[in-house]
Amino acid sequence: MQKNKVILPGKTIGIIGGGQLGRMMAMEAKFMGYRVVVLDPTPNCPTAQVSDDQILAPYDDLEAIKQLTEISDVVTYEFENVDLQAAKYIEEKGKLPQGATVLQITQNRDEEKNLMKALQIPVSPFAVITRKSEIQPALEKIGFPAVIKTCQGGYDGKGQLKINSIADLSLVEQFIDENGDRFIIEKWLTFDREISIVLTRDRKGKISFFPVAENIHKDHILDETIAPARISDVIKAEALSAAEKIANHLEVVGSFAIEMFVKGENIFMNELAPRPHNSGHYTIEACNVNQFDQHIRAVCGLPLQEVRLLELAVMKNILGEQVEALLQVMPRMTEGFVHLYGKAEAKEKRKMGHVTFTARTEEKRDKLLAEFKEALR
Ligand code: ADP
Ligand code: MG
Repeated sequence: MQKNKVILPGKTIGIIGGGQLGRMMAMEAKFMGYRVVVLDPTPNCPTAQVSDDQILAPYDDLEAIKQLTEISDVVTYEFENVDLQAAKYIEEKGKLPQGATVLQITQNRDEEKNLMKALQIPVSPFAVITRKSEIQPALEKIGFPAVIKTCQGGYDGKGQLKINSIADLSLVEQFIDENGDRFIIEKWLTFDREISIVLTRDRKGKISFFPVAENIHKDHILDETIAPARISDVIKAEALSAAEKIANHLEVVGSFAIEMFVKGENIFMNELAPRPHNSGHYTIEACNVNQFDQHIRAVCGLPLQEVRLLELAVMKNILGEQVEALLQVMPRMTEGFVHLYGKAEAKEKRKMGHVTFTARTEEKRDKLLAEFKEALR
């Protein structure tokens, strides 16, 4: 990618992946006046609903990737599980500023962990597992509770199983049978809180950080994000410096997220995401510039905006089983910003939308959320 080639409005941005992240990227791109084409196998997927065009094909269809590359001035992705060969092809054509290397790392939990080790950033103790006979020794070393995760393809708690005691061994064996061939077992940490850093790095290497977010998960799925996170300045500085180290090492371009656990005055790195992140949705209303906007600016070679937090925020995810309740409450809501992603089917545990509340004070913000949750019940 030519470092100083700027892609201006009127040009076409290709997006691989048609979910909610692609949709929100596309919306920001449309605000600025870009054309948007999405590649996704589902007709009328969330991103296609707000794009100029859709290429209807699987993500690893190389012909479709070639077509997307041909018609786009720049290509971006909304998830990390992009076919590597496809990513390399687009990169060689000079149209993938995010690059393919970062995908190779973030597609594999073991590679992420090894990178953290190399950068001397703490992670929860772990072992890589490729066969059943390795489970017991790993658990003996790590202790309980632990969690087993597939190295590839997991998201929203899919592809992982908590292990409470050795009595769960047969469940773990069954999990291995059903979920592939490479896993990590890691110690389940009793953390004080979970945080994430969403940052954007431009093509010249300049980084802009969004306020650190605090994340509350339910059943391994993000439920609420509070911003800014309620952490000490020491933790904040440590988290930001680790994030900066990772982003520079990976030569990230675009918005990028790092999930971490906080325990006392220590941080442990959990996951990397080479794209905008669920925990950054609050930036749409609470900041002067949001994670999708900055992402588009970065991949198009525009300078990043300086981020300012306008109000305190809390974001609550809306899963499939909560959509009906939300629609019932909405006609009475005078506060809060409702986002629904236009997904055809409201499956249980599927992320269908989110609601963000902003306020000047923590008291007001917490009250708005509490009232909303009460109404949803
Ligand atoms: P994904 O987001 O891809 O589903 P994660 O590894 O981020 O996978 O796990 C989802 C959530 O499960 C985490 O955000 C956290 O709440 C919980 N979790 C995962 N691993 C651990 C761990 N080692 N200790 C404590 N909680 C964990
Ligand atoms: Mg995660």
